[in-house]
Amino acid sequence: MKKVYFITGSQDLYGEEVLLQVAEDSKVIASYLNDRIDGVEIEYCSTVRDEASCVEACARATNDKDCIAVITWMHTFSPAKMWIKGLQFLKKPLLHFHTQANEKLPYDSIDMDFMNLNQTAHGGREYGFIASRLGVKREVIVGYYQHEDVIEKIKKFIDVARAVDFSKNLKVAMFGSNMREVAVTDGDRVESQIKYGWNVNYYGIGDLVALVNAVTEEELDAKMAEYASLYIMNTDNIDAVKEQAKYEIALDKFMQAGGFGAYTDTFQDLHGLRQLPGLATQRMMGKGYGFGAEGDYKTSALGAIFWEMAKGRCGSTGFMEDYTYDFTKGDEVVLGAHMLEVSPDFASTQPKVEVHPLGIGGKEAPARLVFDGVDGDGVAVCMVDMGNRFRLICAKIELVKQPKEMPKLPVARIMWKLKPDHATGAAAWIYAGGAHHTVVSTALTVEDVRLFAKLTDTEIVVIDEHTDLGKLQSELEMLDLLAKLK
Ligand code: MN
Repeated sequence: MKKVYFITGSQDLYGEEVLLQVAEDSKVIASYLNDRIDGVEIEYCSTVRDEASCVEACARATNDKDCIAVITWMHTFSPAKMWIKGLQFLKKPLLHFHTQANEKLPYDSIDMDFMNLNQTAHGGREYGFIASRLGVKREVIVGYYQHEDVIEKIKKFIDVARAVDFSKNLKVAMFGSNMREVAVTDGDRVESQIKYGWNVNYYGIGDLVALVNAVTEEELDAKMAEYASLYIMNTDNIDAVKEQAKYEIALDKFMQAGGFGAYTDTFQDLHGLRQLPGLATQRMMGKGYGFGAEGDYKTSALGAIFWEMAKGRCGSTGFMEDYTYDFTKGDEVVLGAHMLEVSPDFASTQPKVEVHPLGIGGKEAPARLVFDGVDGDGVAVCMVDMGNRFRLICAKIELVKQPKEMPKLPVARIMWKLKPDHATGAAAWIYAGGAHHTVVSTALTVEDVRLFAKLTDTEIVVIDEHTDLGKLQSELEMLDLLAKLK
């Protein structure tokens, strides 16, 4: 199981008795968090009291591949020069927990001994200064450790820290390259690896075709039976569905053998495949694999990372594309879909398996899952390469039920409204250079994406109910200037 280190800061000046109490309280808090937070072990570490113990604790966290984050708490005052070298060693997401062992002040008994022991209000500021001076990107959470809202904030931090750890180990397979002449799906893959850890490499589609051709009748029968149990077969063209079933089996084998968490393909490079993977890719996304169409490796990687971040939460997460609008005044709505590849994680109706011609790419009519989408609050997020840095753009959106049936639309779709209004939201996205491909999630919030941006030192532009186009354009100019200064 992944671990989060819980490190308490103090100093030697108080004597052994106080340090024993510091250790005792730290164990109680670490153990309380451990009981309340699932999926990760909160590991109590010995109190650090000088530079050497800080360095030892931070270096151990950095070198422990199971450690995804560090929580630090200043129970007492902890002179912060002793933290400099340790924080310089620390390469894991950091949470500065500004809490106390006690919730309330003991008005009747409080004396100077109590004051010296319980001074996070004081020690946390000294420690916070050095973290700011060193430019350490971290989350600060303030409050009594048993309060529900405080626990929720820590859980969210851990979700994002787990996603950062996942990112550092993510392998993305690109079948083919990105779609010819398309700008926004392209990017600096070396820089992606330096900054986010993504190992992104190209594979010939022939490597996948070999696995497709090796699928056995037994494997195929089992996969078709699985489809029949989950979906409505709304086609007579079973042969086309079997073709996609083979792709899914082959993709699963390819991804597992290579340790990949995400992939891309492109309809311009399908040599040896009779169809563009549709149903197959939808199924892969439904299992949590990241996907980016037309060679979009950035959206593919983000999809896998956000899926990891959303684990254990309610909601849907997947690849999306802004496709077309309803411009009805005051009731504008975005119709999001793709040629085929919409994750069944977004389904609000039982998916139907259908086969229709694609009209692009010159291949056979592909099988796909068709369904209506979920509703609820969500985010649409993209990453673009601005040349000298990556930029995340995160829009708060409201997914809505489709107002009418669309009987002739042969793809799955979701619909959403922009904030603060359609014209402002869409213009803001375009000024920011936002892509047509996104990851949409109803499980994640703007705060999660902001924290991911902070912990990975990534520029972020947020579009929400407060967005003002004048201020946004000034902000974008400032961001350009800032990037030049860095
Ligand atoms: Mn596309």
